[in-house]
Amino acid sequence: MPKKTSQTIYLDYAAATPMDRHVLDAMKLYFTDKFYNPSSTYMAGRNVKQDLDEARSKIAHWLGARPSEIIFTAGGTEANNIAVHGVMQNHPKANLVISAVEHDSVLEPASEYEFQIAKVSKQGRIDLSDLASKIDDQTVLVCVMQANNEIGTIQPIKEISELIHKIRNERLKKGNELPLLLHSDSTQAANYLDLHVARLGVDLLSINGGKIYGPKQSGVLYLKGGISLKSTILGGNQEQGIRSGTQNVPAAIGLATALDIAQNKRNYEAKRLQKIQKLFIDGLLKIPGAIINGSLKTRLPNNVHLTLPGIDNETLLIQLDEAGVMAAAGSACSASSEEPSKVLRAIGLDKAEIQSSIRFTMGRRTTELEIKKTLQILLGLVS
Ligand code: PLP
Repeated sequence: MPKKTSQTIYLDYAAATPMDRHVLDAMKLYFTDKFYNPSSTYMAGRNVKQDLDEARSKIAHWLGARPSEIIFTAGGTEANNIAVHGVMQNHPKANLVISAVEHDSVLEPASEYEFQIAKVSKQGRIDLSDLASKIDDQTVLVCVMQANNEIGTIQPIKEISELIHKIRNERLKKGNELPLLLHSDSTQAANYLDLHVARLGVDLLSINGGKIYGPKQSGVLYLKGGISLKSTILGGNQEQGIRSGTQNVPAAIGLATALDIAQNKRNYEAKRLQKIQKLFIDGLLKIPGAIINGSLKTRLPNNVHLTLPGIDNETLLIQLDEAGVMAAAGSACSASSEEPSKVLRAIGLDKAEIQSSIRFTMGRRTTELEIKKTLQILLGLVS
């Protein structure tokens, strides 16, 4: 990682991560010398196609998938949209169930079809019996993210997968051959969790580069072999016709390099950040009335989300920024929206509590010293 250039403390890694130098180095050649279209028939183009396929294989390796199951997309939003629209448009009379804490890039496409929302607990974990009750004979897709972008709660994807298989088998016995697929948005999980699709038991999975020290607008949709999707982006038939358009080769190379680094480091980084997270949470709980949101046990190691009753989060964020600390009120992706966070509503926070909540997300450059400084600044501001 490059050295920091200023005294500011960046604590919004769930919104964006700085690109790793190795990622940038790996990408450079594909903007200049190896700029060829990977679909071209001449040797230079075929060489680029080979490099693109190597990047595909690298990603497939970490997902325990086949290279043919990896579809390059322009980011997480696009991967989620392709997954939801692609499955639902293939089954026009069917419905889907999504968790109450999904990102808008799952919720918005889902709301174009008949859909239901499965409840989560106060900690943001999926309520499995509520999920089961909402899956009916016409359900073809269930979307549950691997880890939440606002409160960091990790979902029991394996358990959800087992439940879905049980329901699917019961349906088969009744002669209902409709598929029942599980999609997981793993964009916030890729730095810290196992993405192996068979161990998770997922049929579709999304990741992006912008959250793992890779390029923004780079992403992947894993699509289990044998599952057919209705193509929603039509054109030149690239990416098996599922995502037409000339591939962004530098972005794909960057994403593969970034995922390689992230997954190689993930145990080390998770342990390192868990220690700092504990220090942070212990310090924050010294503020009278402070409440940590989300699960304390099944939580991303880089996430700290809290409510400070009586404090206006917008004002506090500005004061923190002036003091050199960059944090967030919630999802940066919906920062332009005035609407209170759906995730926080889903875990039972009221409007006032939502307006008093802030999110800190740590990353590779975060140090214990930075967190101690942040605590000092924060305690000074709220006291
Ligand atoms: N899903 C989650 C959980 C996210 O946090 C984000 C972005 O913050 C996205 C999807 C969208 O990803 P992208 O910005 O790459 O489109």
